[in-house]
Amino acid sequence: MTELCTRGFFRAGGALGCFTHFRRCGKLPRTPFLGLTGWGECCIIHMYVLRDLSPRKCRASGGKEIDMYYITLDLEWNQAYAEQSQAVQKRLGARLRGEVIQIGAVKLDEKLRTCGSYSVIVKPRYFRKIHRHVKQLTGITQQMIDGGVPLPEAAARFRRWCGEDFAFLTWGPDDIPMLKDNLRVHGQPTDWLDAVYDLQPIFNEQTDGVNKQRSLEYAMEVFGVEQNLPAHDALNDAYFTARVAAKLDIAKGIAGYGRRTGPNLEDTELGNADTGEEGFAEIGDLLASPAVAQPACPLCRKPLSILDRTLHSKGQKYTVLVGCESHGKMLMNLKLHRNFNETWRCRKTLTEATEEQIAAYREKLKNSEIRRKTRTRRRRKKDESAPTTPVVS
Ligand SMILES: [Zn+2]
Repeated sequence: MTELCTRGFFRAGGALGCFTHFRRCGKLPRTPFLGLTGWGECCIIHMYVLRDLSPRKCRASGGKEIDMYYITLDLEWNQAYAEQSQAVQKRLGARLRGEVIQIGAVKLDEKLRTCGSYSVIVKPRYFRKIHRHVKQLTGITQQMIDGGVPLPEAAARFRRWCGEDFAFLTWGPDDIPMLKDNLRVHGQPTDWLDAVYDLQPIFNEQTDGVNKQRSLEYAMEVFGVEQNLPAHDALNDAYFTARVAAKLDIAKGIAGYGRRTGPNLEDTELGNADTGEEGFAEIGDLLASPAVAQPACPLCRKPLSILDRTLHSKGQKYTVLVGCESHGKMLMNLKLHRNFNETWRCRKTLTEATEEQIAAYREKLKNSEIRRKTRTRRRRKKDESAPTTPVVS
């Protein structure tokens, strides 16, 4: 049986062919084979016949059976117009920044060789009208999403295709949380999406070591991967992500992955409304909460002493020097975010504080103090001069 996956793509159940048969074609008739319908309106049709691989057997690589896969994943999502978005989130009592309209994925064996692909157009349930920017960017039309697969079914099919033992590779940190938010709204499980590695930091670490968010296009350019398919199609982007992944030492990247957050003695979230916690109405409430104002040592649970003032930096970051009698000085960092319902949450981390870090923190405190005093003096001067200013009528 031949199943039509999405525009321009199909997989032939058990048929021959593999990913190598991959070409770009702009002149195919709309219904090229076997009377398939529903090719949509796209004029650029790239097609490949794929073996319908059973989840636990990937023989694409020399007949050897493989148990563990990497799956590069990319999503396209429909954004809502602001008012609608707020109304829907309020009604649902959950975060929903967008609704997934395409899932694209490429399956790789442990040597990063491509052995399958998946793509599905999803029918949104809340943001049903395609946003004009999304349409422009992705080429996905109203007609296409109207004929899409509802998310619970699309996710179930996708999960079956993923198999049992796999880890996701994504370009950037956004896709999996978006998919999880969407699944939660539909009351679907999300734990099967937990094994995920963002390739951006792995790429940075294995190239120039610069800690920056690079685009997929940038990585492709660095590795000489040709942009031979239109971008902003979930399957194409998943395919390009796979090509970039193949140039990286993934095993090494994954082995070092946890270490990047390694210096954190504690890494917790406070007031995350997405997970059902109550957010903080005001920043002051958050800063006065026991976990922040009376923190405990993550190693011995004894109260930490607060050793200096709180440094407030740009982007709602707060840092304060704390200390434990047994475990020494630590820096407590808070990074605040808005919840979907306009309350505040924060990520709280505690790290061991080196002498240099303490010196840098104190330097910043001093500078912010000078800035504050200057501001106050200016304001006072203005206030004093105000009454003596002649009133011109
Ligand atoms: Zn301690």
